[in-house]
Amino acid sequence: MARKIGSRYTANQILGRGSAGTVWLGEGPEGPVAIKLLREDLASDQELVGRFVQERTALLGLEHPHVVSVRDLVVDGNDLALVMDLVRGTDLRTRLDRERRLAPEAAVAIVADVAEGLAAAHAAGVVHRDVKPENVLLDMQGPLGPGGAHPALLTDFGVAKLIDSPKRSRATKIIGTPDYLAPEIVEGLPPRAAVDIYALATVLYELLAGFTPFGGGHPGAVLRRHVTETVVPLPGIPDELWQLIVQCLAKAPASRLRASELAARLREQLPTLAGMPPLDVDEPDTEAEEAATDSAPSDPAADRPRERRGAVSLVPGARPDSNRDTHTSMRVPAPDELAGGARGTARAPRAAGAPRPGSARNRASARRRRLTLGAVALTLVTAVGVGTWAATSGDEEGGTPDDRGSSSSPASP
Ligand code: ADP
Ligand code: MG
Repeated sequence: MARKIGSRYTANQILGRGSAGTVWLGEGPEGPVAIKLLREDLASDQELVGRFVQERTALLGLEHPHVVSVRDLVVDGNDLALVMDLVRGTDLRTRLDRERRLAPEAAVAIVADVAEGLAAAHAAGVVHRDVKPENVLLDMQGPLGPGGAHPALLTDFGVAKLIDSPKRSRATKIIGTPDYLAPEIVEGLPPRAAVDIYALATVLYELLAGFTPFGGGHPGAVLRRHVTETVVPLPGIPDELWQLIVQCLAKAPASRLRASELAARLREQLPTLAGMPPLDVDEPDTEAEEAATDSAPSDPAADRPRERRGAVSLVPGARPDSNRDTHTSMRVPAPDELAGGARGTARAPRAAGAPRPGSARNRASARRRRLTLGAVALTLVTAVGVGTWAATSGDEEGGTPDDRGSSSSPASP
């Protein structure tokens, strides 16, 4: 069912849903576009409106083959829409869910693309802050690269931040998605470009292993692991590649590579990875996780369908559509909380290469999981509405059309 968006665009068909709205396949004066439309019932939510405006602001002037360009911001009655280049394909999460693990060559090619997109963003002074497979789109109409990988484009700059912009969020507030959060964010430091490198190295690990290095269980436990645990090598991973991952997962932000260096080092390794099959990594043991969280017999969550790990909805009352929603209301844990020991989250050390219990996703044998909420080390609140973005959006609320319309859509070369 077609729907008019402003005077210049028509939304024709749903492409995907995020936590705050729906992405449509649309038509504009220059051809097909993707239109991210904020849900009507959320139009009064300052924070979410701010994210839309922020996404457009962050990308003004950023044109790169590995970044999804934002062309326009439309404000029309109750509609608020972000008009983007259309990428015909899937997001990386969908591909990973389908294949479980990618061959190293394809994984490295995709991550090198994203690293190049990040290098451009960082050069423009923008930190993405939410690098994760959901926010990487694969352009199936683009040329096939190494390992049969389609070009990858970084999208969703909804929580991006200008480096060195005045501090607008409270120092204790964390923005990001638990599995991909750099330790310095957990410790309350302002996000710099290195947080994106950490997140991208986490994505690379995940593409190779099928699970993230520090994920599993309650988000509070995940945050603590980022600060206190070290990664264990994946069995069979080429040493050079592993060293790169380790360096970019360094706890100290200054020890991580820059985005352009990471891209170059990854590309250098591509020839040696050609033809290598996906790593043979054991599936994480969900039984262990269930045993660890089964200690709350009267937990009302027990009768709900299994939620994927860390599920906290961004939008009040919304069904969490992903356990990797961008959390906007986490707070920085106190030092004693970071030291660990919360019931249900402490774990025995794993053997090298053994995957983390409880980090499997979407398994066919998915069983109900009980979240022991009473004993966690971190308080998470799902309510949003702290006007973080109200401040960021002050100069953009007029919503004038963006005249950068010359950007070429990757879908229509
Ligand atoms: P949110 O900000 O709610 O997380 P995203 O920007 O991540 O929303 O988009 C949600 C989904 O919509 C993506 O996972 C993808 O499937 C689809 N999508 C988003 N942007 C585009 C685009 N430019 N072209 C094609 N599909 C897109
Ligand atoms: Mg997203």
